[in-house]
Amino acid sequence: RAKEAGRNQVQFYEAAMNERITERALIEAELRHALARDQLSLVYQPKVDLHSGAITGMEALLRWRHPTLGMVSPARFIGVAEETGLIVGIGSWVLRTACAQARAWQDAGLPPLRVAVNLSARQFQDQRLSDEVQAALEDSGLAPPYLELELTESLMMHNVQAAVGAIESLKRLGIALSIDDFGTGYSSLAYLKQFPVDYLKIDQSFVRDMLTEPKVAAIVRSVIALGHSLGFRIIAEGVETAEQQAYLREQRCDEMQGYYFSRPLAPDAFAAKVTAARVCAGAGR
Ligand code: C2E
Ligand code: MG
Ligand code: MG
Ligand code: MG
Repeated sequence: RAKEAGRNQVQFYEAAMNERITERALIEAELRHALARDQLSLVYQPKVDLHSGAITGMEALLRWRHPTLGMVSPARFIGVAEETGLIVGIGSWVLRTACAQARAWQDAGLPPLRVAVNLSARQFQDQRLSDEVQAALEDSGLAPPYLELELTESLMMHNVQAAVGAIESLKRLGIALSIDDFGTGYSSLAYLKQFPVDYLKIDQSFVRDMLTEPKVAAIVRSVIALGHSLGFRIIAEGVETAEQQAYLREQRCDEMQGYYFSRPLAPDAFAAKVTAARVCAGAGR
């Protein structure tokens, strides 16, 4: 009996494993053609100044619509893209598309906004990254301060020495840099002072739990306070409720991003939102 149960268990694991391998192979094979087949697009989620309420910028987030798989979430394909190196080509398309879009909105008369692009480890480790960023800025005509690159802690802590060098060369271009998902990796604020970054983005898991778990609230408060004393601006991600927004504002967090203000939007909807927000702000004065 025990033997049989054991065998079933093994078969179960094998089936689960096979399923995962098949899923991965499928994603990889399809992702290879996604760009050429025009299946990728960007959506934009506003970042809002917690004091003035104004939209200060937006994060570009990748979307993949496949003819038979439907919408494939980044959680399902970003990892595969990184492991296979496909992220290098896709990432450079994201960078160029986001810069061109930000500049097009400026040309169309929207207030100048900072566009944030997520960077993967592969891209960050590539020696040509800063040349590529510079080319994306020049080709689009976007002024450097309106581009922000989001890095993760693990990406930087992997090789601190190399990361400091790479970050310094990016900063020399005049762009903004942020650390995404802050608090989920292994970095300490002591390390961070070596990195010339502008923003820390508090991970959404802390924002989600801070009003129900006092220890999480304590972490959020100390990240904001210590971050500020080290010269960083603080962005909270995953803000979903008025209570969370109020708490973060009270703690002097600088910017927020989340469903409470807006979901990520397709370009037209984003432009409409910015225009509407501006009309509201004007009417308030
Ligand atoms: P991220 O950079 O931390 O992006 C934030 C994620 O949280 C996004 O998920 C966003 O849609 C979601 N989000 C925003 N507000 C809320 C909220 O109030 N509540 C909740 N529950 N979620 C919220 P998304 O678009 O599925 O992206 C997931 C991750 O995939 C991103 O996390 C980023 O790590 C990665 N990713 C997305 N686009 C790119 C890209 O162009 N390049 C690279 N390398 N990674 C990307
Ligand atoms: Mg991000
Ligand atoms: Mg994040
Ligand atoms: Mg995240």
